[in-house]
Amino acid sequence: MSLGVKLAPYAASDEASRGRQYREPSPSYRSEFQRDRDRIVHCAAFRRLEYKTQVFVNHEGDLFRTRLTHSIEVAQIGRSVARAMNLNEDLTEAISLAHDLGHTPFGHSGQDALNACMREYGGFEHNLQSLRVVDLLEEKYADFPGLNLTFETREGILKHCSPKNAAELGELGRRFIERKQPSLEAQVANVADEIAYNNHDVDDGLRSGLITMEQLSAIELFGEQHAQVCKSHPGISERVQVHEIVRRMINRLVVDLIDNSALLLRESAAMSVDDVRSAASPLIANSEAVRNQSLELKQFLREQLYAHYRVRRMTLKAHKVIESLFGAFMDDARLLPPQYQKKVGEAQGAAQPSVRARIVADYIAGMTDRYAIQEHQRLFDPGALT
Ligand code: MG
Repeated sequence: MSLGVKLAPYAASDEASRGRQYREPSPSYRSEFQRDRDRIVHCAAFRRLEYKTQVFVNHEGDLFRTRLTHSIEVAQIGRSVARAMNLNEDLTEAISLAHDLGHTPFGHSGQDALNACMREYGGFEHNLQSLRVVDLLEEKYADFPGLNLTFETREGILKHCSPKNAAELGELGRRFIERKQPSLEAQVANVADEIAYNNHDVDDGLRSGLITMEQLSAIELFGEQHAQVCKSHPGISERVQVHEIVRRMINRLVVDLIDNSALLLRESAAMSVDDVRSAASPLIANSEAVRNQSLELKQFLREQLYAHYRVRRMTLKAHKVIESLFGAFMDDARLLPPQYQKKVGEAQGAAQPSVRARIVADYIAGMTDRYAIQEHQRLFDPGALT
């Protein structure tokens, strides 16, 4: 249906959608991509994002970002960009809200640990897992498995993919093999993800005390906004100062992204989604100057925050929790909860370790940080008798 918004000729639209895996009548009063967004918001994996983290583990403090607030921030940035560029805001929002659904507990360290456990069984990629969640693992609808989302939303969720996995995904994986670009809406969600985490990690990093204002002032993107805020608002509290700096950084990145992408689109003379797909590189991108500033900040966070000894200490624990859970369930499937035992029992080729491993990986990937810690205690702490 038409939303009353004039979309650019290279925007994704309901009319040009490649549709859903299982045919369904069109929704009333909503666009196809609004329906995708709504299905994502109502799914269990989305609610679990509240108790999953990226850098800080969930119980470390109530003020830190979780994957849920991260996803909402990505959607906010993505929607602003999409609307300003007359792209499909609903599709951008759906992709943004779904992009982290397949993430393991304990952020990146959890993903690395599970990938290491799955090495002999086909590996574990969180992007692919997000797709698995929406295609298969959510069991809510009578007529189909998963959420039966549109091709465009599913394609946007699959940000990266190895050639081997792409080959197994058919139409959806084709762009990785042919080296084509995804829709502009997927490109927007992708950059919005990066803008969101760089900025909220600065905010959370400062709040945690693991990084300082002094260190950050040496980073150009932060330093510029810092100088501006000090000049225009001397004497404000540090908390307000941080927020004023972070919001200016986000604004700088977003405004530059819109301006530069508009320029790239004009230069490419793209007139359709197909033109966008065939472009040699993404058409949604920051200018080189801002990209370099953003990279400098990213590198700073990698060295000073993600590699901080207190973060690493948590990373080590996360690895151990995931490894031991995986090992225990692989050794004895009877330790799995009944619904997963049932899946093992009913799976085709259940005798093959790789089939069981995938079910175990689905179970572990679906856990929240605190659930994984509790499950670890229930299995390995002799004092925990339940
Ligand atoms: Mg993300």
